[in-house]
Amino acid sequence: MKVIKVVLIIFFSWACNTSPQIQTNELKAQKPKNVILMIGDGMGLSQVSSAFYYQKDSTNFWRFPVIGLSRTSSASHKITDSAAGATAFSIGKKTYNGAIGVNADTIPERTILEYAEDAGMATGLVATSAITHATPASFIAHQPSRQMQEEIASDFLKTDIDVFIGGGKQFFTDRKDGVNLADSLTAKGYRVFFDTTGINEVHNGRVAALLAPDEMPPYAQGRGEMLMPSAMKAIEILSQNQAGFFLMIEGSQIDWGGHVNNAEYLISEEIDFDHTIGAVLDYSKQHPETLVIVTADHETGGFTLAADHADKMKGDYNTIAPSFSTTGHSTTLVPVFAIGPGSETFSGVYENTAIFTKMMNALGLTYNKVR
Ligand code: MG
Ligand code: ZN
Repeated sequence: MKVIKVVLIIFFSWACNTSPQIQTNELKAQKPKNVILMIGDGMGLSQVSSAFYYQKDSTNFWRFPVIGLSRTSSASHKITDSAAGATAFSIGKKTYNGAIGVNADTIPERTILEYAEDAGMATGLVATSAITHATPASFIAHQPSRQMQEEIASDFLKTDIDVFIGGGKQFFTDRKDGVNLADSLTAKGYRVFFDTTGINEVHNGRVAALLAPDEMPPYAQGRGEMLMPSAMKAIEILSQNQAGFFLMIEGSQIDWGGHVNNAEYLISEEIDFDHTIGAVLDYSKQHPETLVIVTADHETGGFTLAADHADKMKGDYNTIAPSFSTTGHSTTLVPVFAIGPGSETFSGVYENTAIFTKMMNALGLTYNKVR
């Protein structure tokens, strides 16, 4: 009897140590070197779905093994704006609509970009809006209102961000206080660009590219291939850093297509974002020490890909008639896609603030109350 007991104990301890258990432990022990957070502004599930129906190429969303859902409400409103939405990702707290890197009491809190910087990582922001617009601003600036774009521009100088690419030149160079922040950036060692000429020759160091006076034009109206090459240039430069990097890439104008209820605009922005995701995933395949997360701050437009149902008696179930239910945002849960070391923690249903915590935990960074 005793012998059987011992044999059983040995058997069970052996059984418990077979590969699935070991793999789980190994996955948990894996720490990403790099984190790339991609935000499709206003990108709900129908926006994502449009990438499956409106392009010739296979969408890159097929490539994600881990999916979650995020609840986007802010501290002040059931329906968030992009400032509170991005600040939830950047500081891990719900705040009020309009807040940029500050909590619900307007107190500045350290952002994940600043934590990464303090840990010796290289950092970057790429957007198709002004770089001072709510989403990118929430990762680097601390201001009570998203309207304060000149103050937000000044906050870029208070950090050691390595690369930022987007619009918003006027908030740096044509300011009420008369200060030319482009000169300040140059003095701080940045190479400053006002168009894409010459960017390709840069392979390291600090880069500030302000490619439009305010917002970038839509993809179909002159912006063209800007987001993907900008993201890949940022990755090329940031990846020189031995201690890894944190990069936020935003498809800013998916939201704007939703606000104007223009399905063609929305879908062309979604496809541009999809292509950028593809390039990022190709990079992460070559550099598997990279955690990639793709999500949205909220849904915009109440967008849907419903059947063309003009004829009430018999709908055409082979024709999609994209439609909208609002020119504002909605509070529909948004999808979260993840791949790479630490990605398994992104499955499930959670608050948008958990995305901050999950990224911090993956990187082994510790939340610090004191900024
Ligand atoms: Mg945005
Ligand atoms: Zn919006």
